[in-house]
Order: sequence, then C-alpha cells, then structure tokens
Amino acid sequence: MSFENLGLSSSLLKAIEEQGYDKPSPIQEQVIPVVLQGKDVLASAQTGTGKTAGFTLPILEQFTENPHHNLKKRNIRALILTPTRELAAQIQENVINYSKHVDVRSTVIFGGVKQAAQVRALQKGVDILVATPGRLLDLHNQGEVKLNKIEVLVLDEADRMLDMGFHRDIQRIMNLIPSSRQTLLFSATFSTEIRRLASKFLTDPVTVEV
Ligand code: AMP
Repeated sequence: MSFENLGLSSSLLKAIEEQGYDKPSPIQEQVIPVVLQGKDVLASAQTGTGKTAGFTLPILEQFTENPHHNLKKRNIRALILTPTRELAAQIQENVINYSKHVDVRSTVIFGGVKQAAQVRALQKGVDILVATPGRLLDLHNQGEVKLNKIEVLVLDEADRMLDMGFHRDIQRIMNLIPSSRQTLLFSATFSTEIRRLASKFLTDPVTVEV
C-alpha cells in the first residue's frame, strides 16, 4: 500500500514525501479512504500510530478538492478537539507540515496563555481550527469563533477528554456545530463511556481498530 493508492493528490503527496514517510501506517491505510468517502469513523488508536496524519490528510484532500471558501473571509470548516495544549500544539504542527502545498489555513487555540495572539490568528480567517475545549468555548462566547460552518469534527483522544472532565464542554460544543457534519472519534480505549459518546454523536460510523 502506498499513499498514492489512498487517493491523495500530488500537493499532499509532496508534503508527505518531505516528511520522509515511505508508506501509510496501518491506521492511515484504514482511516484515510473511509474519511474520503465522507463517512463517520470510530477509531481506536494510541499516540504514535500516525493517527494525526490519518485524520488530517483526508480533511486536507477534501478541502483541496472542494475549496468553497470565500477568499475574503474563510470559515472554520474543520475543528479538531484535543484535551491538552501540548497535544493541540503538536497536531497544529502536523497540520502545517501536511498543508505546505495546499491553500488551507489553520491555527491553534488552547488555555493557559493570553488570548490576544490567538484572536488575531482567528481574525485572519482559518479553514482548520485545532482547539482544547475550554478555550474554544471562551472564545466562542466572546464571538471570536464561529462554529456554524463546520463540516468535519475530530474528537482526538476522546477518552482523555472524558477523563479530564470535558464531557459537558463537548456536549456544549456539539450543540453549536451543524448536525450534518462528518465526525471522526479517536480514542485509545473503547470504554462504555466512549461507546455512549459515539452513539450520541456519530452517524453509522465505520469502526477501525489497530
Ligand atoms: P501520531 O501518532 O499522529 O502522533 O504520529 C506519531 C509520529 O509518527 C509523528 O512523529 C509522525 O510524524 C510520524 N508518522 C506519521 N505517519 C507516518 C508514516 N506514514 N510514516 C512514518 N512516520 C509517520
């Protein structure tokens, strides 16, 4: 299996090559085609499996094939929710690396730091937002984040988000996002709570376990 076979276009293949990736990891082989078909995904995958590229690459591919942003004002089309600032920063670094040769903009917001720089980045307009739940809700409440144009939602490390007490924040965020979205849920474990979350927020998901 190669990245070419997975249906990614040349601008993404170039970025992947620059990262030095030879071939897709098992989770990438399974997740990328399903996301490209527009389906919801429930995936069990630990950090280190390449899950970040697994969800980021097909999102970038979809947005490149279907660049329906208004060049004057971009909407947030994909939201990646993750529990900690470290994970958020790491994901954003990956998104930047994979989007080097495509016209997709992204930024990251997380708590524990001043808001000003994050607000400025948001005001420039982004297609992809990486966020921790608390800061996302704060900035949404201040009118700095619009969630009504979201097409794809990623719940990354969902089990950790629940462990850290983000259940209610996730519920609040879900209420702000169009229900017609595509939802991708990644979790190290499939506990009862995760299955409950999945049955609430995912529609007919394809389950991937590696
Ligand atoms: P993740 O599980 O998403 O945190 O990724 C773990 C590490 O694997 C990161 O440093 C990625 O850059 C790297 N990686 C992701 N996909 C591949 C791949 N197909 N081949 C080699 N390395 C990869």
